[in-house]
Amino acid sequence: MKIVFTVIFCALLSASIDAQTISISGNIKDIKSSSPIENAKVQIKNLSNGSVDTVFSDIIGNWQYDILTSVENESQFLPKNLEVYQNFPNPFNPSTKINFSIPTNENVTILVHNILGELIDQKSIFLSAGNYVIDWFSKGSAGVYFYTISYANQSITNKMIQLDGGNGIGLGEIRTGIAGNFTKNIGLLTFNVELVTTKFAVYLQTIHSKYTLIDLHNDVLEVMVADPTYHLADLHNFNHTDIPRLQQGEVDVQFFSVWVSEAQYQNRFEQALVMRDLFYSELASNSGAIAQARTMQEALNINSQGKIAAVIGVEGGYHIENSIDKLVTLYNAGMRYMTITWNNSTDWAVAASDSRTLTDGLTEFGRQVIRKLDSLGVIIDVSHVGIKSIQDILEVTNNPIIASHSGVRALRNSTRNLYDWQMQDIAKSGGVIGVVFYPPFLVSPTPAYISDVIKHIDYIVNLVGTDYVAIGSDFDGIGTNVVQGLEDVSKFPDLTLVLLQHGYTELEVAKFLGGNFKRVFEQVCGN
Ligand SMILES: [Zn+2]
Repeated sequence: MKIVFTVIFCALLSASIDAQTISISGNIKDIKSSSPIENAKVQIKNLSNGSVDTVFSDIIGNWQYDILTSVENESQFLPKNLEVYQNFPNPFNPSTKINFSIPTNENVTILVHNILGELIDQKSIFLSAGNYVIDWFSKGSAGVYFYTISYANQSITNKMIQLDGGNGIGLGEIRTGIAGNFTKNIGLLTFNVELVTTKFAVYLQTIHSKYTLIDLHNDVLEVMVADPTYHLADLHNFNHTDIPRLQQGEVDVQFFSVWVSEAQYQNRFEQALVMRDLFYSELASNSGAIAQARTMQEALNINSQGKIAAVIGVEGGYHIENSIDKLVTLYNAGMRYMTITWNNSTDWAVAASDSRTLTDGLTEFGRQVIRKLDSLGVIIDVSHVGIKSIQDILEVTNNPIIASHSGVRALRNSTRNLYDWQMQDIAKSGGVIGVVFYPPFLVSPTPAYISDVIKHIDYIVNLVGTDYVAIGSDFDGIGTNVVQGLEDVSKFPDLTLVLLQHGYTELEVAKFLGGNFKRVFEQVCGN
């Protein structure tokens, strides 16, 4: 999780004046994806005096630290009045430095406005007399920005030009700096500095990137059926899923739900095939980025080519229209899990939201369906499925079963969530519970935060251990009601980060992200 390495570096320094600065810098990127890692924490420890300081990598993974080596006579450097130096460079990309000096101890405020006069960032801090430097990391769109530094009754406003837009942190930490330029290089000096890089990086590969992420439930096919102009290839700022955001979220294996609105369509099987064809055509137009998988091994092969593996899950037994042949057709299309019911019961299985949930389960045909799924190698999904139906399923199947997108009923009483004994049954079968990201299934009242998702994970771990947790986001099946911090598929790395910060080990997180489901996928669907 942490790398500590010692850097011995040499640099030309100026020594004819009373103080010197030296800059050290680096770049942090993911060794798997080569994408820059933003906001990685770099700690710089000066081994000669033990002092520790921190900088963060910017949006393109760069970090820089200026070491103040000595100040022999501080007072002669102090300006008479507030001084603000031209930032450098200007225009800049992606970051710049603002230098300022204050002659007495005072509150200092730094404001950054855009050209419309809107406040973009601000910082207020009490500082002792001296020279300071603050970084500005590109935040907001490209253009002209104004920074104002106020001290006592004085203020100075300067212009800076941000060449590219960015999602940087804006104003960085205020650090002790040196005003002026030191140009006289007189010799070679060696410093011994220790650097510690964190962001839960392992040899500069994030844990999130290192392990396979399998999301068990995504409804974007439904979105695309409703909106023929929406395509996976394009980056959107609405809905939850597209290839650019899946790549950003480093999703390795995505289950795509075939779900036909039973209220809207009578010909649900036919309409499921329309969805299948849409899935095929989206994959065909993006064959460099995504490909269909039918087994775990196929998925890993696809991932090794740098592509996302896409698997079909069918949500709701009504799609087979009481026909084993139609079930086989869906299997041949690539269906690798089937959710036995959606909210509506079928003629052969009762749903969780049905008043008969406790008393009625599978009919004889229902048992036949389960046996067929077992013999074909299709995972049985019990999210949405009635309580008695799940018990009946477990009597028939020999395979591990999953709940692809559900929560813990003890934490949030919803028919879509699972009682403790149901989760114990699923664990006993060897299956997994894909924890859902839908706020109403997590907390009441909403909003829900990443910490609420973690509470459901904690509960399952405490109940049955770490081998049965999986991820089942339900993105694009939940409208605009999202967990704060998990707004779309690009946000999965933040879940990983919070799981690690929460105290789960790297290997536990790897299990939750995909390791546990991998076991089920291999066991049921073969290689
Ligand atoms: Zn669902």
